[in-house]
Amino acid sequence: MSSTSIRLLSKTKQTARIVIIGAGAAGIAAATRLLEQGFRNVVVIEAEDRIGGRINTIPFADNVVDLGAQWCHGEKGNVVYERVKELSLLEVTEDHYETFKCVRSNREVVDEEIAEQLRSIAFNSIPERQTELINYEGSLGDYLTTKYWQELAKLPQIERPIAKEFLAVFHKFESSVEAADHLFEVSGRGHLDYWLCEGELLLNWRDKGYRRFLQLLMNAKKDQSEDFGMLNGRVLLNKRISQINWEGSNELIIRLWNGEILTADHVICTVSLGVLKEQHSQLFVPALPEAKVRAIKGLKLGTVDKFFLEFPEPPLPTDWPAFKCLWLAKDLEELRSTEMFWLESVFGFYPVSYQPRILQGWIIGEHARHMETLTEEKVLEGLLWLFRKFLPFNVPHPQRFLRTQWHANPNFRGSYTFRSTYTDELRTGGWDLESPLLDVGGRPRLQFAGEASHKHYFSTVHGAIETGWREAERLNTYYRSRNSQL
Ligand SMILES: Cc1cc2nc3c(=O)[nH]c(=O)nc-3n(C[C@H](O)[C@H](O)[C@H](O)COP(=O)(O)OP(=O)(O)OC[C@H]3O[C@@H](n4cnc5c(N)ncnc54)[C@H](O)[C@@H]3O)c2cc1C
Repeated sequence: MSSTSIRLLSKTKQTARIVIIGAGAAGIAAATRLLEQGFRNVVVIEAEDRIGGRINTIPFADNVVDLGAQWCHGEKGNVVYERVKELSLLEVTEDHYETFKCVRSNREVVDEEIAEQLRSIAFNSIPERQTELINYEGSLGDYLTTKYWQELAKLPQIERPIAKEFLAVFHKFESSVEAADHLFEVSGRGHLDYWLCEGELLLNWRDKGYRRFLQLLMNAKKDQSEDFGMLNGRVLLNKRISQINWEGSNELIIRLWNGEILTADHVICTVSLGVLKEQHSQLFVPALPEAKVRAIKGLKLGTVDKFFLEFPEPPLPTDWPAFKCLWLAKDLEELRSTEMFWLESVFGFYPVSYQPRILQGWIIGEHARHMETLTEEKVLEGLLWLFRKFLPFNVPHPQRFLRTQWHANPNFRGSYTFRSTYTDELRTGGWDLESPLLDVGGRPRLQFAGEASHKHYFSTVHGAIETGWREAERLNTYYRSRNSQL
């Protein structure tokens, strides 16, 4: 037996060196679970100056806002919900995302009865619970559009231009759920790979934000953002990995951008699919196996950004729960030839729970990526113009404004993942991203976690958490079975 093999076989949970890349939900879940299982040598490397990744709760207006994940989606089978259900931390969000005013670009508010019919047809056209999609070859966009017009044919009294405008805004809304640029790139079948957890789908964290969950995982003091609880001293912030050398079967060598070098027996990589897409060919030496590269190319991640506007008083009339923007064809054509063309993909504005003076807006896709390149002043100028164009009342200048830039940030390069028709074409999926790179003796060396690697709960925090636990368990199982053989 070579000296390397002897050295590796002598490793135990106490001495095995584990480096986790990324202190997002998956990285924190993996690190805390490993420590709970008795591993001692666990370090988390994080490129940002904060933990949380795509969970980013910041102080704003009357308490906090979430720039990334905001809701716990569902209850049954949702590990986030299961962990906190006895603690009264979550609350059902008012249904503004289903009951909203539909306002047209000529400031006309669509009659409530018609709006309700359109909402109901559109929501029922999403194939969440429809088995007919199992053998469907097309995109979610094709499916939704066909179904919508089929149902609408039964309602000839609804004016077609309004129905068309509504379908367009509904496509944008549903694209924000998927994080796709448009629904015609979302796989119809792949959409069914995503499992909804039963129960309330929009549970908010009251005035605490999603970071409260990470504090619970780490056992950290809830009022001190710099306390990492059981991860104190184990998280290195502002350290960006530039290369992971996993050649051979000896230790892995990790290079940081500042020139530092670390070595490890196991690496768990949790960086986003966006980072992998952009950097995998430089990040990994030697190059990753073909199946892994196919998964990185074939899985998709799009851009969803948020706007937060704070006003001195609640900005919408009391009978306006939220609103969606319906573009008249001629106005849209005009808009497209101006520098404010990106406003086409701003689809609606909603209140934020526990924040009565805030409006939260959403933008998706290519136009979101363009918006990210503009100055904050330009973006706000555009939104105020949009309010004047659509709303039959005056909205004052906000006292504070924020927008997110999830794509522009090199540590994310997008918002969350979905399964596209290209994913189907390449016959890949979360399983290929998940599969660990082992040495010839079956020892996990380079492992992958993060939302994109979940087969069914991709795009969510509960999915990311499960993947972190999955990889911690993989190491635990390896060391347990090895010890029993010794
Ligand atoms: C706008 C938005 C809204 C969302 N809303 C919800 C929601 O309501 N509910 C929900 O469940 N989910 C939501 N999500 C999705 C959810 O936030 C993610 O699925 C989840 O947080 C991903 O966690 P992760 O650990 O997989 O990845 P990340 O959080 O991306 O963690 C990866 C970490 O790796 C770090 N990193 C990257 N590159 C390097 C490098 N080279 N070296 C070192 N570190 C690096 C990053 O900085 C990051 O901290 C939302 C996401 C966004 C963007």
